[in-house]
Order: sequence, then structure tokens, then C-alpha cells
Amino acid sequence: MNGKVYLVGAGPGDPDLLTLKALKILKRADVVLHDDLIPRQILDLVPRAAQLRNVGKRCGRRSISQGEINALLVTFASFGLQVVRLKGGDPLIFGRGGEEIEALRKAKIDFEIVPGVTAALGAAAAAQIPLTHRKLSSAVVFLTAHQANTGYAKDWHQMISSGATLVIYMPGNHYDATSKSLLEAGLAATTPCAIISQATRPNQRIYQTTIGKLPTTARHASPTLLIVGEVAQLGVADRAASEEFESRIHPYLGEAAIPLSELFNERLSVVSRWGETE
Ligand code: SAH
Repeated sequence: MNGKVYLVGAGPGDPDLLTLKALKILKRADVVLHDDLIPRQILDLVPRAAQLRNVGKRCGRRSISQGEINALLVTFASFGLQVVRLKGGDPLIFGRGGEEIEALRKAKIDFEIVPGVTAALGAAAAAQIPLTHRKLSSAVVFLTAHQANTGYAKDWHQMISSGATLVIYMPGNHYDATSKSLLEAGLAATTPCAIISQATRPNQRIYQTTIGKLPTTARHASPTLLIVGEVAQLGVADRAASEEFESRIHPYLGEAAIPLSELFNERLSVVSRWGETE
């Protein structure tokens, strides 16, 4: 059998967010090279006979370079093995998938990409934040805090003035720098934001604050993600952190075109109509 490499997204943490396709591929893998953040329940799905290798960059181990990972993928597949490169979230969002694709193409190795639920979507669902909203935001931008903290702010002006929801990956502990960059780029200090720590995992935590208050916010267990924009106010948060908000109900909700009482009456009349036909 010819060897093949699968770049597979494992999702943000909850094993139930793994796709069926990812599950099928994992079950027939010969080799799995995985990131650090992959939960044990997902790794347990790999057959016992398969070789399981952590190529992540933590836990004090010597980190394996991207070049070494590429070489492993090419070598295992050249031996005719089914190789899975298992990544957190989606393989093509801040996952160095591009570099692996390049190496595999160059070596003429057959490969396939299996998308996963990226952290932004897992975190938004966990915090019940609609990333787009007909009245508040018609675009979403995924970016990294590295960009925020290295003078890219001038390029952010346009993005911010478009009113897009910003999802900031890898915010680290540089909340002051991130807040400063966003303010310099024109974002109002009162703009709501949410920090989602360990989204979809057992220790998930959700905090709401504003961009102005972000630097004084407590640091949270990684991985964390920052969602910035008016929509962040519509989400839910752990009680203590959300206390600073007087109300989580956005003002526009008070402007409902149809009064709730009317909707309620409408529903009652529908019920009674059903009653009539029965
Ligand atoms: N490919 C991944 C992202 C890798 S970069 C994806 O598509 O999700 C790693 C960053 O992703 C972390 O620093 C953090 O910002 C974010 N992240 C990953 N899993 C997360 C989780 N469960 N909760 C919050 N943020 C997460």
C-alpha cells in the first residue's frame, strides 16, 4: 500500500468535537504525530499497534523543529505507512499546516487535509457569543497576539474600522500590549471582550471585560483566546468576572419591532387554532 499523510484537526479539546472522518482515519493509522494539546481521550482512539509520538513543544522536552517534523512525515509515508499529523483545532489555522503541505508536495507524498473545529468556533460556542450578528458585526477576523505586539497595529486600523469581530489566538500574558495596540488602532476602550480559557475542556473558564480594563484582568490557564467586539457582550461568563457588567443585555434588544406581548398573544392564538382543529 502506498503511504499517505493526513493533516487532521482534532478540534479545541472536547473529544465529541472530533469529526467522523478524523475518527475513521485515526483508527487505521500506522503512525500518529500529535501536538501537545490533544486530550488523552482522543489519543486513546489510536490503535495500540500504531506508533504515537508527541511532537509538541512543551513539558521541558527538547522541542522538535518544524523541519524535523516535516522530515518524519515524509520518511514514514515513504515507507508505505498511513501517517496522521494530528493538530489542535484546525490544521490550517495557526497550525503550520502550510509548511507541512509545502514539504509533502516537494517530496511528492500523497496527502489529505481533514478540517477540525478551530478554537475560535469552540470558544464562541462555549461562551455563546455569535461571532457575526446582523446588527452588530458582519465580519470576523482571526489573528494572533504576536501581530498585536510587534507593531502591526497600523495595519489594524482598517480592520477595526470595519467593525469586524476580532478573535485573537495566542494572547499569552501580554494583555497590556494587546490592549494598547487595539486602542492605538482606534478601538474604543469600552469595547467588550471575552477571554475564554481552555474552551470545551473540563476546566473551561469564561471572563468578560473591556479592552480598556484588559491589562488589569487576572491571567488565566492556557490555552486562552480573546474575542473582541460588541458581540462579546452577548455571551455568558463565569459569574465573578461578569459582575462588572450591569447588564449583559445589549441595548438593541430593547428595540424589538414586535412587542413581546404581541408575540406571546400570537403564539396563544396559534395554540388555540390547533386546539380547534383537533
Ligand atoms: N490550529 C489551532 C490553533 C493553534 S495556535 C486551532 O485551529 O484552534 C494555539 C492557540 O489556539 C492557543 O494559544 C489558543 O489561543 C488557541 N486555542 C487552542 N485551543 C484552545 C482552547 N481549547 N481554548 C482556548 N484557546 C485555544
